[in-house]
Formats: sequence, C-alpha cells, structure tokens
Amino acid sequence: MFFIGLRIGLPGWETNTRHAASNGSMEQDIFPGGRPMDEEKRKILKRIDRFVEPYRITKGKKFRLKDIDPEDTGGLGSEQKPGARELLAWGIQWMAEEQDKFYADDRRSMLLVFQAMDAAGKDGTIRHVMSGVNPQGCQVYSFKQPSMEELDHDYLWRYQKCLPERGRIGIFNRSYYEEVLVVRVHPELLERQRMPRDLVTRDVWKERLGDIVGFERYLARQGTIVLKFFLHVSRKEQKRRFLERLGMPEKNWKFSSADVTERGYWREYMAAYEEAIRATASQEAPWHVIPADNKWFARLVVSAVIVEAFRKLELAYPQVDDAKKKDLAVARRALMGEKE
Ligand code: ATP
Ligand code: MG
Repeated sequence: MFFIGLRIGLPGWETNTRHAASNGSMEQDIFPGGRPMDEEKRKILKRIDRFVEPYRITKGKKFRLKDIDPEDTGGLGSEQKPGARELLAWGIQWMAEEQDKFYADDRRSMLLVFQAMDAAGKDGTIRHVMSGVNPQGCQVYSFKQPSMEELDHDYLWRYQKCLPERGRIGIFNRSYYEEVLVVRVHPELLERQRMPRDLVTRDVWKERLGDIVGFERYLARQGTIVLKFFLHVSRKEQKRRFLERLGMPEKNWKFSSADVTERGYWREYMAAYEEAIRATASQEAPWHVIPADNKWFARLVVSAVIVEAFRKLELAYPQVDDAKKKDLAVARRALMGEKE
C-alpha cells in the first residue's frame, strides 16, 4: 500500500532516474531507480514511519499473536517485490550513513534483539539488513545452549557480557529471551541452571519477565536503544523451508533433526512468545512482530524500523570547537610545509 504511494506519489523519482542514468554514476549500479534527493528522502522516510507502525508493540496488554498474520505483506503484491527490494537498498544505504554519525557521536549504543522459530530467516535478515554498515561499529552474537561456565552464573550474565559499547550496534541472534522461551518450554533446562530450590516457585516466569523489563529499562537509562524483533513465521511455511533444506544438498547442513522435534512444541512456543511480548513490550524497548513468511517483506520492515530509530535521534557529526579548529589549522600548515 505504502509502496504504491511511494512510486506514484513522488514525481521526482522518475526524473532522478534519468538524471542518474545520464550521469553514469556508480549509484546507478547500486540503485537502478536513481538516488532520491533530500526532499524526496524526507517523504520516503515519512512513509516508512507509517509502514513500521502496524508491527510495533509498545504496550503489551492488548497484544495477541493471532492478530499478526505471518503472510501479511502490508498490502504489497508480489509484483511490487522489485520495488520493495529497491527500498530495502535505500534503507541499507541510509542506515550506513546514520551509523557513521552514531559511531562518531559515541554516546549511545543500539541493541537489536532477534528472536524467531527455526527457519524463520533470522540469519539472512541480519546479513541483508546489516550488509551496508561498517563492521567496526557492529557486533553480532549468536546464543546457543549455555556452556558449563555460563550455567554457573545467573542467567543474564552471558548476555550482559556481550552488550554493545557506546557508538556501536550490537545484534543478538537469539537472546536473554530464550530464558523465558526454550527454558520455559523445556523445564529440564531450568533444572540445569541449578537455582536454589526455594527460589523456583510457580512465579518463576513472571519474575524473569519482570527482571527483563527492569534490565531493559536500565539499559535505556544508560543510553542503549533497545529494539526487539520477533520474525513471525507460520508453521506451514516452516515445514516448507525444512523440506527445502532437506531437498537441497547445499542447505542440508542447516537442517537438524532436533528442529523437527521442536516443531512439536509449536503451541507451547507461541504461548511463551505471546506472554513474553505482552509482559516486556515498552516505549523504551518496543517489540516488532514481523510477518516473516515472505523474506523480502520481513527484511524491508526490519530495515525500516532501524532507519526510523536512527532518524529519531537526529544525529549530526560532532561540532569542532575553536581550540580544535586551531589544532587542525596548525596540522594543515605543518603538512603543507613539508618538503615532500
Ligand atoms: P540456525 O538458524 O542455524 O538453526 P539457531 O539460532 O537455531 O540457528 P542452533 O545451533 O540451531 O542455532 O540452535 C541453538 C539452540 O540453542 C536453539 O534451539 C535455542 O533454543 C537453544 N538455546 C538458546 N539459548 C538457550 C538457553 N539459554 N538455554 C537452552 N537452550 C538455549
Ligand atoms: Mg536451529
């Protein structure tokens, strides 16, 4: 819906296409549609905002997972896929520009939490969406079954160690949410954590969810922007992707028979996800429940969310004060005065 508006509502787009083409610029190769000018960029970003809204949850009370259809593509038909891909390329480009300022500003950090059932496309989404950003300013951590050392600590310990530094984006491919998802679905995993028995009551999950809310509030107050994504794939589409992995030798390595066992707990997982999202969605750490049956659409929405978050910060490169300007002038003179 929004993308039709984007194409039709922006007359300058076509003009730019010709302009870029006649220039033979490099951008032409990356962005076949041409580079929108600032005014157009503002308009596109405004539309992106509206696009993000339906999937963002900041208050959990009324949230129901069934209200978000994994097949939803925001009104875009498959014929608009190329357009959506082009917009994604824009998102990636703008994200890179903003990240550069974010890094230079060096005051905030950004934590992107990705959660999903198997084969929902976490890895591919992370790879695509972050493909433009400078690797120096970005760290990705994948969390698997905890090690013996990790099990010897409180459950947040291993995640806390991986939080992004100021100026950096940290990506959690799975996260502390596993502690109220897989550990909840399989109580024997909680047993392995060896908590004192009197502390494991029937309220244990409510308590953990409350602790996570407190943890995220703390991070926000320290200047960390927390954005959480649940890539919501349907059970039917998961089956299709598993069969695809089984049918293609180059995808066989991605398949684990444990994944099929976990599929048997689908209902339990969905209930745990719903409760986690309801309990932990907040203004300072919103959830984004992204329809993920169509990878191109999921990637587009994820990039839109991140671009929008950066834009809200109104980042600018740090100003150079008079003393620094003098320093720069001295350095310039020294360089100019060198013999060779
Ligand atoms: P892929 O897309 O490659 O399958 P993945 O994230 O599923 O990526 P795997 O190695 O297949 O990686 O699985 C990691 C497993 O570790 C998941 O089943 C996840 O539920 C589990 N896990 C993550 N955190 C915890 C935890 N705290 N306690 C127990 N199990 C966990
Ligand atoms: Mg897996």
